[in-house]
Amino acid sequence: MNTNKNIPFFDYPYLFKSEENELLEIITNVARRGAFIAQKELDDFEKNLASYLNVGFAVGVGNATDGLELALRAGSIEQDDEVIICSHTMLATAVAVHFAGAIAVPIDSGVNHLMDPDKIESAITGKTKAIFPTQINGCTAEMDAILFIAEKHNLLVFEDAAQALGAKMNGQYAGTFGAASAISFYPAKVMGCLGDGGAVITDDAAIYDKLVMLRDFGRNTNGDVGMWGRNTRLDNIQAAILDYRLGNYKDVIKRRREIAGIYNERLSHVKKLVLPRPPGDKKYFDVYQNYEIEADNRDELKQYLEKNGVGTLIQWDGIAIHQYKQLGFTQNLPFTDKLFERLLMLPMNMNITNEELDYVCGIIESFYSKIK
Ligand SMILES: *Cc1c(COP(=O)(O)O)cnc(C)c1O
Repeated sequence: MNTNKNIPFFDYPYLFKSEENELLEIITNVARRGAFIAQKELDDFEKNLASYLNVGFAVGVGNATDGLELALRAGSIEQDDEVIICSHTMLATAVAVHFAGAIAVPIDSGVNHLMDPDKIESAITGKTKAIFPTQINGCTAEMDAILFIAEKHNLLVFEDAAQALGAKMNGQYAGTFGAASAISFYPAKVMGCLGDGGAVITDDAAIYDKLVMLRDFGRNTNGDVGMWGRNTRLDNIQAAILDYRLGNYKDVIKRRREIAGIYNERLSHVKKLVLPRPPGDKKYFDVYQNYEIEADNRDELKQYLEKNGVGTLIQWDGIAIHQYKQLGFTQNLPFTDKLFERLLMLPMNMNITNEELDYVCGIIESFYSKIK
């Protein structure tokens, strides 16, 4: 096919160029005052984020991986506790469990690519302390079922909500279901900053007090040291940028859901694909961090799209957590193994146009029209 289309999977310079003047003004304003660490902008952003999520507290941290570790530690995860995670997640989820001193136990993901509640109970042992689902792709897992199992077995619940700012189940925000969670502001995330950044979310005042200490050398707001702590703070410049972006965030969600709707409508007749939950779902309000499909002949489709100027991505380089044998995982999860041979993410970002979406869908249709 002869085309000069170039539709990248993600366009990093766009994150700055699309609002260069506004961002330069924010950065200049903070930098001229020398307000680099833990200043008013961080305070404001934490308050606004907590209020957006209808939750007690948000604590800015250096990145979501640190945030998840702090959430687990502040939420009383201890040495050698077992924490059940979904195998379809970023390595970060397991890394956080590991550096909190505990053991990550991956289980299968379900048909929604989210933790499968039916696979939890068989993974529970005498050492299990918590269930830690990932709200993957900007979708919320079946938190009602997960909370029910947690209560039955007296387990804590934490969420990896790195990808899911603004997603909801039955009107409640992802990241607010358990003891604590973390959200990522990595540039390519639904709400990205211009570098690394994250926030821990909790409704529990005792957990909040510990989080504040854990991110700042164990010091509380009076400067008194109460415990061993790390240094992982959200930069004030990033907080200022994020506070500005939070103000426009509902437009971002609206557009992402619109794109998902276009893909769903255009591709639902392609029998060789399995598409994400549609934006019209009654129970779940998804924000589509990613538009992750399952595809027959996945690798050929990826190549064909590439040849026609369309960038796609296989999440986590195609490796599920339990497949990292070099990190000591021994679980056998055949459903996830199969699933990971079929997953592919289509372009889902704020600068793709409807005309480009139409083109991407046309290429996919043409690929499958040639395949029996
Ligand atoms: C991006 C991501 C993280 C890590 O976030 P950082 O801010 O880069 O540390 C953790 N979990 C999931 C599911 C992610 O997508």
